[in-house]
Amino acid sequence: NTPHIAVIGAGLAGVSCASQLEQLGMRVTVFDKSRGTGGRMSTRRGDQWQADHGAQYFTARDPLFSKELLRWQQAGVASAWQPAVAVLDAQNPDAARRHDNDSGTVRFVGVPRMSSPVRWLADELQLTLSARVNALIRRENRWRLCFDDSVEDRARLENIDFDAVALAIPPEQAVALIRPHAAAFAAQCDTRAMRPCWAAMLRFDARVALPFDAAFINDGPLRWIARDNHKPGRPSQETWVLHATAAWSEQHLESSADEASQALTDAFKALGGTTPTTATAHRWRYAEPTTPAQSQGCLWDAALNLGLCGDWLSAGRVEGAWLSGRALARSITSLE
Ligand code: FAD
Repeated sequence: NTPHIAVIGAGLAGVSCASQLEQLGMRVTVFDKSRGTGGRMSTRRGDQWQADHGAQYFTARDPLFSKELLRWQQAGVASAWQPAVAVLDAQNPDAARRHDNDSGTVRFVGVPRMSSPVRWLADELQLTLSARVNALIRRENRWRLCFDDSVEDRARLENIDFDAVALAIPPEQAVALIRPHAAAFAAQCDTRAMRPCWAAMLRFDARVALPFDAAFINDGPLRWIARDNHKPGRPSQETWVLHATAAWSEQHLESSADEASQALTDAFKALGGTTPTTATAHRWRYAEPTTPAQSQGCLWDAALNLGLCGDWLSAGRVEGAWLSGRALARSITSLE
């Protein structure tokens, strides 16, 4: 009998884990609470308009991830992005300088959207979306999942027995699910806080006359701004994405989207930007790990058949998420 594994979370770590498990001969079902896949590699879309409001770009340092990235490029779902990058001082934006460390950085993005590589990997998988898992039940050495009342087909889904569960979700969301079963893992989640990030998406009728396509900002409230339509394969409408610093986002965590969008637009204008035709904001409550783990990349309990993966257990960021999912798949199949 082929073991059946539940993967919870269809961000990059979850689909990386699931596709590796399938390649290694397992049967896998992936669940996500959202309506789509991608998690924090996410794109907001409208009429003739889109913006990557989560991950902005990624780099590839690990040879295994570089090999995977080549596959994505060959499939047309990722491409290099070569923006002119500046470093700005919020107190003195006129003194913009080119990014000192930029010469060696090769940046990549999903094409035509940041979520595209995840969607491509997920194409081959058995996926159940709009399905928030709110508890795990251990029964006769197997696992069952419990879902929110609103989940379609809930009774059937709650009757499936799984041989193992892989949680590919941020620590704050994983902890409630695992605490009744794995106190040591829950304790690790408790120590790994994620910091928030407010993101604003601005649309313009005309090109914004800033002499760069992206900038790192010192001294907040913004930490990063980018001309999203400069990325390859995007619609041409002038669109900027602004990311606030973690400190500003924490201070304004309970602000409304309108308030955050207004404050970040004002900060953009103080840097030399113009007034957008429309602006909207999104709050990422769990955006990035405070400090990336130096660990083996995943947690796996072979007695319980329960594991965790995600960027927060690896080197952080997109590359770390993929590596972490792969590491967990190999632990589940006892390869590493
Ligand atoms: P996620 O993408 O968070 O996936 C977790 C998934 O689990 C989500 O889809 C969620 O809906 C689902 N989920 C959670 N709880 C449940 C539940 N109970 N039941 C079912 N499903 C659940 N990285 C870079 O490399 N470069 C960057 O420039 C960069 N910039 C960033 C900017 C921002 C604003 C943010 C938010 C992130 C950025 N990152 C960046 C980080 C990068 O996006 C992440 O490292 C990576 O996408 C994490 O993938 P993941 O699979 O570990 O987690």
